[in-house]
Amino acid sequence: MLNIAQITKKARQLKKTLLVFVLLLCSAFMISSLLAAVFISVQAEHECSSEVCFICVKIHNAGSFLAQISKISALTLLAGVSLMAAIIPIKLNLFGNISITLVDIKARMNN
Ligand SMILES: [Zn+2]
Repeated sequence: MLNIAQITKKARQLKKTLLVFVLLLCSAFMISSLLAAVFISVQAEHECSSEVCFICVKIHNAGSFLAQISKISALTLLAGVSLMAAIIPIKLNLFGNISITLVDIKARMNN
């Protein structure tokens, strides 16, 4: 059974791990969208060899990828704003005194 100090330590470790994961994910999104945009701009005026051009297909794929990324980003931003709209009134204590004591959560202190 874990005591309060161990739970707090594990929560901090989990928070750091989550932060690193989120930063890596954001970096991957940014780098991949940047590379797609660079590819489109570099290959925009290529010489088409035939009707079925491999580069044109890749440009189309990169454009679709950028459209999907922008939708995902917009949804993520909307979710973040909604979450902040829900959290800020609680943090500012607009609903009165909401207090959670150790007795309320029945925490054991005798380990
Ligand atoms: Zn082409």
